[in-house]
Amino acid sequence: MMNIAFIAHDRKKEEMVNFVLAYESVFEDHKLFSTGTTGTRIMEQTSLQIERFASGPLGGDQQIGAMVAQNEMDLIIFLRDPLMAQPHEPDINALLRLCDVYGIPLATNIATAEVLVKALDRGDLGWRELVHKYKPGVDQ
Ligand code: PGA
Repeated sequence: MMNIAFIAHDRKKEEMVNFVLAYESVFEDHKLFSTGTTGTRIMEQTSLQIERFASGPLGGDQQIGAMVAQNEMDLIIFLRDPLMAQPHEPDINALLRLCDVYGIPLATNIATAEVLVKALDRGDLGWRELVHKYKPGVDQ
């Protein structure tokens, strides 16, 4: 079972809901997390249970980033709005950076999200199970 996070900016929320709905049978086998409103929207329209963090502008990206820093997040689907400035741009950049620090599979658009969910379904992300035990700061 993987820990998976969903984040969608406002103009991407409908796309996110449709995406999660399409792959609901894949996601239901995993532990799901999200920022506040994204999670509410997904839960309204699917039967999935999602642990919701704060809304992105109020620190939700940072909360998900904290899980990445503990090596506890396995996959992130982050549908960003590339055409609209966000007040929490530094938090967004921090999360993307941490994904690169820890080598976490991250999709920032729907095309990559599709590829990753298919990989997840095939079991291609099984290597994440092996790195779960590694905790930065403890082992370093
Ligand atoms: P939200 O946060 O899911 O609460 O809208 C995401 C964002 O807009 O950064």
